[in-house]
Amino acid sequence: MVELEHTRSLLEQMGLLTAAQLLDAQLEQSLHSQQTYVQFLHDLLSSEQQERQRKSRETRLKLARMPHHKRLEEFDFTFQPSIDKRQIEELGTLAFVARNENVIFLGPPGVGKTHLSVGLALRALDAGMVVYYTTLSRLIGDLKKAQTQGHLERRWRIYLRPALLVIDEVGYMQLNRQEAELLFRLISERYEHGSVILTSNKYFSDWGELLSDNVLATALLDRLLHHAHVVNIRGQTYRLRDRLKAGIQTVPPATLPADG
Ligand code: ADP
Ligand code: MG
Repeated sequence: MVELEHTRSLLEQMGLLTAAQLLDAQLEQSLHSQQTYVQFLHDLLSSEQQERQRKSRETRLKLARMPHHKRLEEFDFTFQPSIDKRQIEELGTLAFVARNENVIFLGPPGVGKTHLSVGLALRALDAGMVVYYTTLSRLIGDLKKAQTQGHLERRWRIYLRPALLVIDEVGYMQLNRQEAELLFRLISERYEHGSVILTSNKYFSDWGELLSDNVLATALLDRLLHHAHVVNIRGQTYRLRDRLKAGIQTVPPATLPADG
Protein backbone atom coordinates (compact mmCIF):
# COMPACT_ATOMS: atom_id res chain seq x y z
CA MET A 1 0.00 0.00 0.00
CA VAL A 2 1.38 3.37 -1.02
CA GLU A 3 -0.23 5.15 1.97
CA LEU A 4 1.36 2.72 4.41
CA GLU A 5 4.82 3.19 2.87
CA HIS A 6 4.34 6.95 2.90
CA THR A 7 3.16 6.94 6.53
CA ARG A 8 6.18 4.94 7.60
CA SER A 9 8.46 7.32 5.76
CA LEU A 10 6.73 10.30 7.44
CA LEU A 11 7.28 8.75 10.88
CA GLU A 12 10.95 8.20 10.02
CA GLN A 13 11.38 11.75 8.78
CA MET A 14 9.91 13.04 12.05
CA GLY A 15 12.38 10.91 13.99
CA LEU A 16 9.72 8.50 15.32
CA LEU A 17 11.88 5.50 14.43
CA THR A 18 10.35 2.98 16.82
CA ALA A 19 6.83 3.91 15.70
CA ALA A 20 7.94 3.50 12.09
CA GLN A 21 9.39 0.09 12.87
CA LEU A 22 6.30 -1.11 14.76
CA LEU A 23 3.74 0.38 12.37
CA ASP A 24 2.99 -2.83 10.46
CA ALA A 25 2.71 -5.08 13.52
CA GLN A 26 0.57 -2.67 15.50
CA LEU A 27 -1.67 -1.98 12.52
CA GLU A 28 -2.29 -5.67 12.09
CA GLN A 29 -2.92 -6.15 15.78
CA SER A 30 -5.35 -3.26 15.85
CA LEU A 31 -7.30 -4.81 12.92
CA HIS A 32 -7.54 -8.14 14.76
CA SER A 33 -8.59 -6.68 18.09
CA GLN A 34 -10.86 -4.04 16.51
CA GLN A 35 -9.13 -1.18 18.33
CA THR A 36 -10.37 2.37 18.02
CA TYR A 37 -8.20 4.85 16.09
CA VAL A 38 -7.33 6.55 19.37
CA GLN A 39 -6.21 3.29 20.98
CA PHE A 40 -4.06 2.45 17.97
CA LEU A 41 -2.41 5.87 17.99
CA HIS A 42 -1.94 5.75 21.74
CA ASP A 43 -0.23 2.33 21.63
CA LEU A 44 2.05 3.32 18.76
CA LEU A 45 3.17 6.54 20.45
CA SER A 46 3.58 4.82 23.83
CA SER A 47 5.98 2.31 22.28
CA GLU A 48 7.96 5.18 20.80
CA GLN A 49 8.15 6.99 24.12
CA GLN A 50 9.10 3.88 26.13
CA GLU A 51 11.92 3.07 23.73
CA ARG A 52 13.20 6.66 23.96
CA GLN A 53 13.19 6.55 27.75
CA ARG A 54 15.03 3.24 27.71
CA LYS A 55 17.69 4.58 25.36
CA SER A 56 18.04 7.80 27.32
CA ARG A 57 18.54 5.89 30.58
CA GLU A 58 21.07 3.59 28.92
CA THR A 59 23.06 6.57 27.62
CA ARG A 60 22.91 8.46 30.92
CA LEU A 61 23.95 5.31 32.80
CA LYS A 62 26.99 4.89 30.56
CA LEU A 63 27.97 8.56 30.88
CA ALA A 64 27.57 8.46 34.67
CA ARG A 65 30.67 6.20 34.94
CA MET A 66 29.57 4.45 38.13
CA PRO A 67 31.85 1.81 39.67
CA HIS A 68 28.93 -0.67 39.91
CA HIS A 69 25.14 -0.63 39.92
CA LYS A 70 24.18 -1.62 43.46
CA ARG A 71 20.75 -0.43 44.46
CA LEU A 72 19.42 0.96 47.74
CA GLU A 73 17.16 -2.09 47.87
CA GLU A 74 20.26 -4.29 48.17
CA PHE A 75 21.51 -2.44 51.24
CA ASP A 76 21.15 -4.38 54.49
CA PHE A 77 20.20 -1.79 57.11
CA THR A 78 20.17 -4.34 59.91
CA PHE A 79 23.92 -4.73 59.49
CA GLN A 80 24.50 -0.99 59.95
CA PRO A 81 22.26 0.20 62.82
CA SER A 82 23.94 3.62 63.01
CA ILE A 83 22.20 4.48 59.73
CA ASP A 84 18.65 5.78 60.00
CA LYS A 85 16.82 3.79 57.32
CA ARG A 86 14.04 6.37 57.13
CA GLN A 87 16.55 9.13 56.41
CA ILE A 88 18.00 7.13 53.48
CA GLU A 89 14.49 6.37 52.20
CA GLU A 90 13.66 10.08 52.38
CA LEU A 91 16.85 10.86 50.42
CA GLY A 92 15.74 8.15 47.96
CA THR A 93 12.71 10.26 47.04
CA LEU A 94 15.24 12.70 45.51
CA ALA A 95 13.60 15.74 47.09
CA PHE A 96 17.15 16.82 48.05
CA VAL A 97 18.12 16.95 44.37
CA ALA A 98 15.10 19.09 43.53
CA ARG A 99 16.22 21.50 46.28
CA ASN A 100 19.92 21.43 45.19
CA GLU A 101 20.93 20.07 48.58
CA ASN A 102 23.98 17.93 49.30
CA VAL A 103 24.47 14.57 51.00
CA ILE A 104 27.64 13.74 52.91
CA PHE A 105 28.41 10.15 53.91
CA LEU A 106 31.10 9.94 56.60
CA GLY A 107 32.66 6.80 58.00
CA PRO A 108 35.50 4.29 57.92
CA PRO A 109 36.16 2.00 54.91
CA GLY A 110 33.64 -0.71 54.07
CA VAL A 111 30.58 0.68 55.85
CA GLY A 112 28.60 1.32 52.64
CA LYS A 113 29.34 4.93 51.67
CA THR A 114 29.89 4.12 48.00
CA HIS A 115 26.98 1.66 47.92
CA LEU A 116 24.54 4.26 49.27
CA SER A 117 25.90 6.96 46.94
CA VAL A 118 25.50 4.71 43.90
CA GLY A 119 22.04 3.63 45.10
CA LEU A 120 20.88 7.25 45.27
CA ALA A 121 22.53 8.03 41.93
CA LEU A 122 20.66 5.12 40.29
CA ARG A 123 17.38 6.50 41.64
CA ALA A 124 18.23 9.84 40.01
CA LEU A 125 19.03 8.10 36.72
CA ASP A 126 15.71 6.26 36.85
CA ALA A 127 14.00 9.61 37.38
CA GLY A 128 15.50 10.87 34.12
CA MET A 129 18.29 12.98 35.60
CA VAL A 130 21.86 13.41 34.41
CA VAL A 131 24.29 11.99 36.97
CA TYR A 132 28.08 11.80 37.16
CA TYR A 133 30.24 9.70 39.48
CA THR A 134 33.89 10.34 40.20
CA THR A 135 36.41 9.88 42.98
CA LEU A 136 38.29 12.89 44.30
CA SER A 137 41.59 11.68 42.86
CA ARG A 138 40.04 11.07 39.42
CA LEU A 139 38.35 14.47 39.55
CA ILE A 140 41.51 16.36 40.46
CA GLY A 141 43.60 14.38 37.95
CA ASP A 142 41.12 15.18 35.21
CA LEU A 143 40.85 18.90 36.00
CA LYS A 144 44.63 19.30 36.24
CA LYS A 145 45.09 17.56 32.92
CA ALA A 146 42.52 19.85 31.34
CA GLN A 147 44.28 22.84 32.88
CA THR A 148 47.68 21.90 31.39
CA GLN A 149 46.07 21.20 28.02
CA GLY A 150 44.30 24.57 28.12
CA HIS A 151 40.68 23.38 28.01
CA LEU A 152 39.74 23.61 31.68
CA GLU A 153 36.72 25.83 30.98
CA ARG A 154 35.25 23.27 28.58
CA ARG A 155 35.94 20.47 31.04
CA TRP A 156 33.97 22.15 33.86
CA ARG A 157 30.78 21.34 32.00
CA ILE A 158 31.19 17.63 32.83
CA TYR A 159 31.00 18.52 36.52
CA LEU A 160 28.53 21.40 36.44
CA ARG A 161 25.89 19.97 34.10
CA PRO A 162 24.69 16.91 36.10
CA ALA A 163 21.77 17.40 38.47
CA LEU A 164 23.67 15.08 40.80
CA LEU A 165 27.45 14.81 41.11
CA VAL A 166 29.00 12.08 43.28
CA ILE A 167 32.49 12.81 44.63
CA ASP A 168 33.65 9.60 46.29
CA GLU A 169 36.67 8.91 48.50
CA VAL A 170 37.49 12.36 49.78
CA GLY A 171 40.23 11.94 52.37
CA TYR A 172 42.57 9.40 50.83
CA MET A 173 44.37 12.00 48.75
CA GLN A 174 45.95 15.06 50.28
CA LEU A 175 45.53 18.08 48.00
CA ASN A 176 48.09 20.79 47.41
CA ARG A 177 47.06 24.45 47.16
CA GLN A 178 46.38 24.37 43.40
CA GLU A 179 44.33 21.16 43.67
CA ALA A 180 42.38 22.46 46.66
CA GLU A 181 41.47 25.58 44.68
CA LEU A 182 40.07 23.44 41.88
CA LEU A 183 37.86 21.56 44.37
CA PHE A 184 36.82 24.83 46.01
CA ARG A 185 35.80 26.30 42.65
CA LEU A 186 33.74 23.21 41.83
CA ILE A 187 31.89 23.21 45.16
CA SER A 188 31.31 26.97 44.90
CA GLU A 189 29.93 26.78 41.38
CA ARG A 190 27.56 23.93 42.22
CA TYR A 191 26.44 25.64 45.43
CA GLU A 192 22.64 26.14 45.23
CA HIS A 193 22.73 25.10 41.53
CA GLY A 194 23.13 21.33 41.73
CA SER A 195 23.43 18.54 44.28
CA VAL A 196 26.62 16.87 45.40
CA ILE A 197 26.93 13.53 47.16
CA LEU A 198 30.32 13.38 48.84
CA THR A 199 31.86 10.54 50.84
CA SER A 200 34.77 10.81 53.23
CA ASN A 201 36.65 8.83 55.85
CA LYS A 202 37.84 12.09 57.46
CA TYR A 203 36.13 14.36 59.97
CA PHE A 204 35.47 17.92 58.86
CA SER A 205 38.04 19.07 61.43
CA ASP A 206 40.72 17.29 59.34
CA TRP A 207 39.84 19.09 56.13
CA GLY A 208 42.25 21.98 56.76
CA GLU A 209 45.10 19.52 56.61
CA LEU A 210 43.52 17.63 53.73
CA LEU A 211 43.30 20.80 51.61
CA SER A 212 46.61 22.20 52.89
CA ASP A 213 44.79 25.44 53.77
CA ASN A 214 42.52 26.12 56.76
CA VAL A 215 40.87 29.24 55.34
CA LEU A 216 40.03 27.55 52.05
CA ALA A 217 38.73 24.45 53.88
CA THR A 218 36.44 26.59 56.06
CA ALA A 219 35.07 28.45 53.05
CA LEU A 220 34.52 25.20 51.16
CA LEU A 221 32.79 23.46 54.07
CA ASP A 222 30.63 26.57 54.58
CA ARG A 223 29.16 26.15 51.09
CA LEU A 224 29.11 22.35 51.09
CA LEU A 225 27.31 22.08 54.44
CA HIS A 226 24.91 25.03 54.17
CA HIS A 227 22.17 22.80 52.71
CA ALA A 228 23.39 19.31 53.48
CA HIS A 229 22.27 16.00 54.94
CA VAL A 230 25.17 14.50 56.86
CA VAL A 231 25.03 10.74 57.40
CA ASN A 232 27.60 9.64 59.94
CA ILE A 233 28.18 5.89 59.73
CA ARG A 234 29.84 4.36 62.77
CA GLY A 235 30.06 0.65 62.24
CA GLN A 236 31.85 -2.44 61.10
CA THR A 237 33.07 -3.02 57.59
CA TYR A 238 30.72 -5.14 55.50
CA ARG A 239 33.70 -6.54 53.64
CA LEU A 240 34.70 -8.28 56.86
CA ARG A 241 31.31 -9.98 56.94
CA ASP A 242 31.93 -11.41 53.48
CA ARG A 243 35.25 -12.80 54.66
CA LEU A 244 33.61 -14.31 57.72
CA LYS A 245 31.02 -16.03 55.56
CA ALA A 246 33.87 -17.58 53.60
CA GLY A 247 35.14 -18.98 56.90
CA ILE A 248 38.32 -16.94 57.01
CA GLN A 249 38.80 -15.34 60.38
CA THR A 250 41.08 -12.34 60.27
CA VAL A 251 40.33 -10.71 63.63
CA PRO A 252 39.80 -12.09 67.12
CA PRO A 253 36.18 -13.34 67.55
CA ALA A 254 35.56 -10.85 70.38
CA THR A 255 35.52 -7.94 67.90
CA LEU A 256 33.32 -9.61 65.28
CA PRO A 257 30.02 -7.97 64.36
CA ALA A 258 26.83 -9.81 65.14
CA ASP A 259 25.61 -11.54 62.02
CA GLY A 260 22.55 -9.64 60.79
P1 ADP B 1 32.75 2.26 51.59
O1 ADP B 1 32.51 3.04 50.35
O2 ADP B 1 32.17 2.87 52.82
O3 ADP B 1 34.21 1.90 51.77
P2 ADP B 1 31.27 0.24 50.17
O4 ADP B 1 30.00 0.94 49.88
O5 ADP B 1 32.23 0.13 49.03
O6 ADP B 1 32.00 0.87 51.44
O7 ADP B 1 30.94 -1.21 50.74
C1 ADP B 1 31.87 -2.30 50.65
C2 ADP B 1 31.15 -3.51 50.06
O8 ADP B 1 30.20 -3.99 51.00
C3 ADP B 1 30.36 -3.20 48.82
O9 ADP B 1 30.38 -4.34 48.01
C4 ADP B 1 28.96 -2.92 49.33
O10 ADP B 1 27.97 -3.22 48.37
C5 ADP B 1 28.87 -3.86 50.51
N1 ADP B 1 28.08 -3.33 51.63
C6 ADP B 1 28.48 -2.45 52.56
N2 ADP B 1 27.54 -2.26 53.49
C7 ADP B 1 26.49 -3.01 53.12
C8 ADP B 1 25.19 -3.26 53.68
N3 ADP B 1 24.82 -2.69 54.84
N4 ADP B 1 24.36 -4.11 53.02
C9 ADP B 1 24.77 -4.71 51.88
N5 ADP B 1 25.98 -4.53 51.31
C10 ADP B 1 26.83 -3.70 51.92
MG1 MG C 1 33.89 3.65 48.94
